[in-house]
Amino acid sequence: MKSLTNRSKMVSNKKMTFLEKLYLPAILGGMVITFKHLFKKNNTLKYPEERKVFAPVYRGQHVLKRDEHGRENCTACGLCAVACPAEAITMIAGEREKGEEVLYREEKYAETYEINMLRCIFCGLCEEACPKEAIFLTDRLVEPQFEREDFIMGKDLLVEDVNNRIDISLRQLTGKRKEK
Ligand code: SF4
Ligand code: SF4
Repeated sequence: MKSLTNRSKMVSNKKMTFLEKLYLPAILGGMVITFKHLFKKNNTLKYPEERKVFAPVYRGQHVLKRDEHGRENCTACGLCAVACPAEAITMIAGEREKGEEVLYREEKYAETYEINMLRCIFCGLCEEACPKEAIFLTDRLVEPQFEREDFIMGKDLLVEDVNNRIDISLRQLTGKRKEK
């Protein structure tokens, strides 16, 4: 009979030899494999004390950037939400009031902006779609949480602190932006 792959094995009903009935060769063979692993390099890291060096293309937790004057770049245009294949982004737009020019760069801004990190697949399409250089995926890990709702990150966690700016990732510095 013609087989679809070459991985199939014919089942044999042949009687076991005396050695096979002892099972010792098979047990010793298994032990040899186990001992070989004892001398191999251990890939386990003692996280969080030890951390892996990420590839330059790594995409981690998002940041909503501010401009050089500390104003939020995001104008709540919604393009990132439209581009997001996981429907992870939601926002409510607000109109900038008089006197708020120091807070928001344009007349429209995001009153609320949320990313559901459990839905996000870190594809980076929101970053690509953003015309205002407002959203970027950084090298940071999304912190583990105990409750599902804690993975829905709002502006308090996404917008960078005006006095503690977040570097955009090495990917951004070595890739797209350098080419410009
Ligand atoms: S990285 Fe991809 S999945 Fe995550 S919020 Fe952005 S567009 Fe959506
Ligand atoms: S992050 Fe960018 S694309 Fe998304 S709403 Fe703000 S300005 Fe628009």
